[in-house]
Amino acid sequence: MARNYDVIVIGAGPAGYIAAIRASQNGMNVACIDEWENRDGKNALGGTCLNAGCIPSKVLLESSELFHRAGHEFSKHGIVTSGVELDLATMQKRKQSIVRQLTGGIVGLFKANKVEGFVGHGKLLADRKVEYTPKSGAPEILEARYVILASGSAPVELKLAPFDGERIVDSWGALEFDAVPKTLGVVGAGVIGLELGSVWSRLGSEVVVLEALDDFLAAVDRDIANEAAKQFKRQGMTIHLGAKVTKAATSAQGVKVEYEDCSGAQSLEVEKLVVAVGRRPYTEGLLGKDCGVQLDERGFITVDHECRTRVKNVFAIGDCVRGPMLAHKSSEEGVMAADLIAGEIAEMNYNVIPSVIYTAPEIAWVGKTEQEVSVSGRKFKTGSFPFAASGRAKAMEQTGGFVKIVSAADDDEILGVHIVGPMAGELIAEAVLAMEFSASTEDLQRTIHAHPTLAEGMHEAALAVDKRALNYINK
Ligand code: FAD
Ligand code: AMP
Repeated sequence: MARNYDVIVIGAGPAGYIAAIRASQNGMNVACIDEWENRDGKNALGGTCLNAGCIPSKVLLESSELFHRAGHEFSKHGIVTSGVELDLATMQKRKQSIVRQLTGGIVGLFKANKVEGFVGHGKLLADRKVEYTPKSGAPEILEARYVILASGSAPVELKLAPFDGERIVDSWGALEFDAVPKTLGVVGAGVIGLELGSVWSRLGSEVVVLEALDDFLAAVDRDIANEAAKQFKRQGMTIHLGAKVTKAATSAQGVKVEYEDCSGAQSLEVEKLVVAVGRRPYTEGLLGKDCGVQLDERGFITVDHECRTRVKNVFAIGDCVRGPMLAHKSSEEGVMAADLIAGEIAEMNYNVIPSVIYTAPEIAWVGKTEQEVSVSGRKFKTGSFPFAASGRAKAMEQTGGFVKIVSAADDDEILGVHIVGPMAGELIAEAVLAMEFSASTEDLQRTIHAHPTLAEGMHEAALAVDKRALNYINK
């Protein structure tokens, strides 16, 4: 007889493992199948996010930023350093140890929440049967009342610059370098390309980013993107816009990258090349022929606003479905699916999902850009506050950037908050909460902010929307 569960989750990234835990908290009998294998051949929970994405990239961003500041900033504080040296092996070991602690943590969470973990491949068959194939051993059929698909995503490969794992690498490969490349090419100036470019630039690589589009960070508010571009340039990272890579050829010395820009055919020689041109939904071997689940034309599993597929009681969540490819979006979809299965009322507010780019300065935003509101035709007002006028930012020696708020002119509702500057990724949480409660700009203006904090920048920007900033001359 097949083993029977209330819920089977396929995939244990931030979408799947959170869905499994919440389903179990809701009183369900839950199994979660995951096949992730690290480079050392060991399996680990947590998917891309914990093993090859969010966490290792943030660890290296933090370490490399400290290295950079020790060499370039400490003297301004009156701290004399000499002989600051990079020990990349230790830096990488620390990263691996943090990844191990966090992925091991999910094992503990599964145990505490009585989620049964299966290591291996899961495939959805008809009638909510799931074929589970262990790493070694024969397949077994499991059955469930509900199935949640959470198979995640994989890096897009450019046919003209295929990954070889050595010279031309994906984002995971670029997190694992054991020596700092003298020169590094990055294809794609998206979130991942900029974060990885920043890490290696701070550690000493000469970094050139090639981006096909003419606009830098096209989805970001123009004021914020322009400020970020200025600061990246100042830091020495070269970003070529309107540069479409057409070919990359490897040799023993490195990679010759050919690209086209407004002046015609160009080429660039680099030691290593990171291709970071986006990610695609990953559904290989996930869907049995008769399972009934459909993919859209871009390969995403088709779901409605509640993450229900076209098959009754089968949900799909996270990077394998439409919407931004973000860990927090994935997890919240997991919570929603598990709560809907338990018969609870649950919904996602897709309009209020924060985005963060963890470069220095950080870039974070939520809601609509000024350009989007302008196109919508709604009358709006904006206010900004520069970190150069913040006492806390000055103490931190991080005065670049600003907070910008876009609000409705008619009812004062906050429509978008955009930050470029120190700790932007932390500061944005206040804006997310405010927008989740449909706050007005005045609500933020009348909220008491501790002094001296970076969060006062949010307060002052809200005041500036009505030309009432108190610590900055209103324009
Ligand atoms: P995944 O994390 O990809 O997990 C899917 C899991 O399912 C994997 O373990 C996979 O092995 C398993 N699986 C797939 N198919 C099967 C099958 N048939 N059977 C069994 N198991 C299967 N997002 C952020 O929000 N913040 C960040 O700072 C951030 N930084 C990033 C940095 C990098 C370098 C990268 C690459 C990504 C980053 N992301 C970030 C994106 C984030 O990692 C993803 O949005 C998130 O991991 C998606 O979660 P998921 O659970 O949908 O998929
Ligand atoms: P993202 O989707 O945010 O990960 O960003 C990927 C970026 O890669 C996008 O801004 C694309 O415009 C860019 N891109 C895609 N293909 C190429 C190419 N052949 N050459 C240069 N940039 C590219």
